[in-house]
Amino acid sequence: YPSDNIRNFSIIAHVDHGKSTLADRLLELTGTIRKGHGQPQYLDKLQVERERGITVKAQTATMFHRHKFLGSDTDFLLNLIDTPGHVDFSYEVSRSLAACQGALLVVDAAQGVQAQTVANFYLAFESNLAIIPVINKIDQPTADPDRVKAQLKSMFDLDPSDALLTSAKTGQGLEQVLPAVIERIPPPPGKSTSPLRMLLLDSYYDEYKGVICHVAVVDGALHKGDKISSAATGQSYEVSDVGILHPELVPTGILLTGQVGFMVSGMRSTKEARVGDTLHHARTVIQPLPGFKPAKHMVFSGLYPADGSDFEALNHAIERLTCNDASVSVTKESSTALGLGFRCGFLGLLHMDVFHQRLEQEHGAHVISTVPTVPYIFEYSDGSKVEVQNPAALPSNPKNRLTACWEPTVIATIIIPSEYVGSVITLCAERRGEQLEYSFIDSQRAFMKYRMPLREIVVDFYNELKSITSGYASFDYEDSEYQSSDLVKLDILLNGQPVDAMATIVHKSKAPRVGRELVEKLKKFIDRQMFEIIIQAAIGTKVIARETLSAMRKNVLAKCYGGDITRKKKLLEKQKEGKKRMKRVGSVDIPQEAFHELLKVS
Ligand code: GDP
Ligand code: MG
Repeated sequence: YPSDNIRNFSIIAHVDHGKSTLADRLLELTGTIRKGHGQPQYLDKLQVERERGITVKAQTATMFHRHKFLGSDTDFLLNLIDTPGHVDFSYEVSRSLAACQGALLVVDAAQGVQAQTVANFYLAFESNLAIIPVINKIDQPTADPDRVKAQLKSMFDLDPSDALLTSAKTGQGLEQVLPAVIERIPPPPGKSTSPLRMLLLDSYYDEYKGVICHVAVVDGALHKGDKISSAATGQSYEVSDVGILHPELVPTGILLTGQVGFMVSGMRSTKEARVGDTLHHARTVIQPLPGFKPAKHMVFSGLYPADGSDFEALNHAIERLTCNDASVSVTKESSTALGLGFRCGFLGLLHMDVFHQRLEQEHGAHVISTVPTVPYIFEYSDGSKVEVQNPAALPSNPKNRLTACWEPTVIATIIIPSEYVGSVITLCAERRGEQLEYSFIDSQRAFMKYRMPLREIVVDFYNELKSITSGYASFDYEDSEYQSSDLVKLDILLNGQPVDAMATIVHKSKAPRVGRELVEKLKKFIDRQMFEIIIQAAIGTKVIARETLSAMRKNVLAKCYGGDITRKKKLLEKQKEGKKRMKRVGSVDIPQEAFHELLKVS
């Protein structure tokens, strides 16, 4: 396939507008996968993706399609790159777009343009991609394609007559999609006569084959047996296998200019496969391709084994999982309350949740996570500045040593039906947001931009936004600058002892309410024990909230004695089971739920 007969494109959309379903239909249409293979959202391979109905990892598939082009039947090779829709994974989106020359911008015919449609449109637009608007789900009774066309025109200046109308469900209009891809998206621009340059798009570890890289060959060609080097590390490798993703790995022995496919080259770990790196033939000198923006960690949280002895097992599980999710940062840390563990940086809260779920589901690990925090910057009186990723690292009486603090902010885009404007403005004000823009997309939908402290959105903002708008709000954000802020460290004390893993950093104005809520939550989730437990929230030495959990009375225990032996055994077993998910802090047993509940207080 000469590169004139290759098209590399991506599908971008707001979550749930039908990208994955459309991708399935295109794969079926081209015979790449069988119809009714019984596995919808074929490219969503991970269990979490199927359960949550979201795409986490961008996947690539190569399809073949014959089309009448410039008067004669021509065979085309089409590389489709599916992208995640959720805000946390926009890093994956920009990665996928780097290998494309065009994108299908899918918009739900009933819901119209949503926040991630806007964000994804701009990502594609800034990468100079040809954009084909696809108005999907036209089979729905509430579909209103004309309204969506008007939105596309007013917001993105896209010509309404360019829009394709489809239903990925009924198949209506799908026959126009691939012809539009071939005719409207330019072929990849690389030179087949230039030395090899290829972009490393993604990598993962396969037990049998080792590290498998997804690559886009920009110039030249890659053959099995070639010696290649990494522009980033200078390391050299011998290519032992190359091929296309069809969508399974199909060895072809060669990848030509403009093709996207896989490569195996004896890398020992995915750490050597730096996403965004340029690979070239050993001993040729090339200009590296522009890389990607590195993943930016927005949320940090401590991960500890739910059972102290499992540290090695957790270590192993995290190592294995980060092989397939290089966007997580991991450093070892220890806590007086929880023992040995890890501090992990995530792209957002959903990313953090997904990482936990994958640790448990795919690697059988049991973890306790600490209250998530964003990276703050603190300045000390000696003029030094530090980035704080763990509240416990701040001294408890900070005011005498700290001279200033800054917190990261984001620019949030919110799109809502007009009737919810009032409640959304109230919510954003509570979250210390500053309104930057407020306009209307059409007669029914409002568009707002806010600057907000990142901290205020990572903790449950999206859920709350959805609940006050009956699920109609859409939301996206991009990171912005740091702003100076009045922050304090809030400690939680059990019987007078600070629990380092429960410390948080909060805005001074919110400390009393957050402190109150935290101690109330803890009182609810900690079981009564043989002694009284005093739960306190404090700033420095000043206690701002307090609850007392009275001791268990003896006759409660007495009930367990005597009676049916099997029942007693069951109780004991249950207790043992429960213990696994307990953490003993000082002399107090804290169930895992208590830690989880703390995550939700903001
Ligand atoms: P993604 O999040 O953009 O990948 O969206 P999915 O492809 O997972 O689709 C979200 C939901 O919309 C799924 O339940 C699909 O079955 C459904 N869906 C997708 N396309 C259509 C369509 O054309 N019509 C209707 N009625 N439903 C669709
Ligand atoms: Mg999807």
